[in-house]
Amino acid sequence: MESEFSKTKGVCYYVVVVIYWGHEYTFGTMKETITYDKISLLRLAFQGLDDDELQEMAELTEFRTYPPEHVLCHEGAYEDVFYIIAEGSVIISKHLGDEEADRVLRIGGRGDMVGEMAMIQNAPRAATVRTSTECTVLEMEKQDFETILSRSPRMAMDIIRITLDRIRSNDKTMIEDLQKSNKVLRQLDRNKLEFIQVAAHELRTPLTVLNGYVKVLKGSSQAGAGSGLEGIVAGIIKGTERIHEIVNMMLDVTRIDADTVKVGAVPISLRLLIDDVAKNIRRDAPERTVEIITDHPQVSPFFTGDPSLIQKALYQLIVNAVKYTPDGGKVTVTTRAVTMEDDTPGVEIAVKDTGIGLDTEHHSLIFEKFYQVGSVDLHSSGKTTYKGGGPGLGLALVKGVARAHGGIAWVESVGHDEEIFPGSTFYLKLPLNSPNT
Ligand code: ADP
Repeated sequence: MESEFSKTKGVCYYVVVVIYWGHEYTFGTMKETITYDKISLLRLAFQGLDDDELQEMAELTEFRTYPPEHVLCHEGAYEDVFYIIAEGSVIISKHLGDEEADRVLRIGGRGDMVGEMAMIQNAPRAATVRTSTECTVLEMEKQDFETILSRSPRMAMDIIRITLDRIRSNDKTMIEDLQKSNKVLRQLDRNKLEFIQVAAHELRTPLTVLNGYVKVLKGSSQAGAGSGLEGIVAGIIKGTERIHEIVNMMLDVTRIDADTVKVGAVPISLRLLIDDVAKNIRRDAPERTVEIITDHPQVSPFFTGDPSLIQKALYQLIVNAVKYTPDGGKVTVTTRAVTMEDDTPGVEIAVKDTGIGLDTEHHSLIFEKFYQVGSVDLHSSGKTTYKGGGPGLGLALVKGVARAHGGIAWVESVGHDEEIFPGSTFYLKLPLNSPNT
């Protein structure tokens, strides 16, 4: 079958050209034909250069043929050749992460230029280019390219302009691609929120019924005091209360995310609120020997906000600190007056632990819904079990509560280490008078 590239040649040269492809031609008309092909190809890649300039470039280029699966450009490597595809096709792909398959950026064919960035900057290859069929390419070395540029500044400017235009158009394609992916991700996130919301509502009704029956059972003579069933009834009540808490957390997260939560505006004493939360956690985790210390300034600030939401956020931060700190460790909660970014007065609450710490790559992701650092196998239904991962909603709630009050939440930790225990400090910074309340 006659190829596209060979269509440009006379029939009598066809066989010879295929056999000697990529070799230096020294004889008469054949050399002219090859030069003509180089020029027509260079014209495709560098539209805007005149014939003399193309001729000058053609002299420094060479045709080569590679088999399928040959790597022309290695992502991350410093390489000095750029290619224009004459025939065949290549796949341009990028490595996105250890656990993800390489992302195909585009498929290149005749007239496409690859590896051109190496011509204008000394940087590693940004993508891998692999031949997907047998491929004939026109190659040029960086040093030859630089020779041309030094000879003709006007041509240098033209080439830089053409190359930048090409890069800009590639960027545009990539941005459009990312915008599309973003739209899909936003929709998936909405679906996830809707699912949590429906699941939480569906669970709440039977849970209320269950609660009612258990309370009746507790009061009855068959299961009440002295019946021998008290322990079992108490266990069922504890279990339903825990499910209730999780269902409520699911609803809080969806409401905050969908901006449908009503944020109260009540003057709150942080000292009282924090001490109360710490007391509850000590009560809920008698088996854990993690000390919880609260340290308030002489004059503890009052601030206006939603006490129930703030209480939930503080609970999550302190309970997490206990959960990810081994027995014998310490959790310290401090508050201090600060100035917000817009110069209004604020308060910063820091929850510092002597626990396992957290690698930087997770610092912002842990505030997303369902994000878990460790394996889900570590999941535990106990609220304060050491390293017992929960449903992954706690910090999403903290972030949402901070946002709903016009504040921010973040974490600082030098990294994860279960021998040295570097610890983590979680911060919640809130304006004294929230703009949203
Ligand atoms: P979970 O229900 O899994 O505790 P969270 O949203 O509360 O969900 O926390 C998300 C992840 O953040 C946890 O799985 C844990 O890996 C990490 N994390 C939270 N608090 C701490 C902490 N104080 N120290 C170390 N890691 C923490």
